[in-house]
Amino acid sequence: MSRGAKTVLGFLVARPLIAIAIAAVVVGVLLLGTRSQKTPVTHRTEHVSLTDAQQSQLGSQQYAKTLRQDRAQIISSGPQYARVQRVARRIETVAARDKPDFVWKVTLLRKNVANAYCLPGGKIVVYSGILPITKNDAGLATVLGHEVAHATAEHVAERIEREHLTGIAAAIIAGGVAFTPAQYAQVFALVDAGASLPFSRSQESEADHIGLVYMARAGYDPHQALAFWKRMLRASRGKEPPEFLSDHPSDAHRVERIQAWLPEAERAYRPQA
Ligand SMILES: [Zn+2]
Repeated sequence: MSRGAKTVLGFLVARPLIAIAIAAVVVGVLLLGTRSQKTPVTHRTEHVSLTDAQQSQLGSQQYAKTLRQDRAQIISSGPQYARVQRVARRIETVAARDKPDFVWKVTLLRKNVANAYCLPGGKIVVYSGILPITKNDAGLATVLGHEVAHATAEHVAERIEREHLTGIAAAIIAGGVAFTPAQYAQVFALVDAGASLPFSRSQESEADHIGLVYMARAGYDPHQALAFWKRMLRASRGKEPPEFLSDHPSDAHRVERIQAWLPEAERAYRPQA
């Protein structure tokens, strides 16, 4: 055995907890193995290691934390609550066909911030500040379709994969073994992506595409998505631009791209009585 290996072994024997932690990560990574899968609607092949169940677990942990922190802000009755539940139910039903193992749930928080996000595994948070911009059910369906698409296309798992954080994520899921707070925070910054860290531009564009088809499948006129984005751009010229736009980098081509996907969305459109 080399001197280096002996040193490492001696170090580990003296520190059984660290040895267990390292073993857990190694086992976690070996057990995980990358699987390739196709994104819904866009049929792009992507490589992720975290299973649907593991993504749900990460998202649920984050969701529980958010609801604990913002308990006083939860809106659980009234017309805004009813609208969010009604639209989310229809979008969730469509998304569940692509991800039957996710557990969908939406919470409306009283916050004067124009934003919304969906955590891995299907837990959605909507801030009341976005409702004046979404304006009607179809506008809200545009936002929820987009957010839910990030979850069904596994965009967070994809980023965890890309940043080589799978082992840490697996260990957190397995029971939070000893990691540096920085690594822990790094994983949760990604999990909480919709709220704190922007997705990549191509993931944003993909979520626009999938979301447009989702809203149409859910019975909302996809042309309303264009009206929503125009209202959003108009709101961005106000003195407090919507946070939604900083998380969802927009460019001049967003509306053009949506227009190009409209024929596909029209074919998927199933108006509901
Ligand atoms: Zn997005």
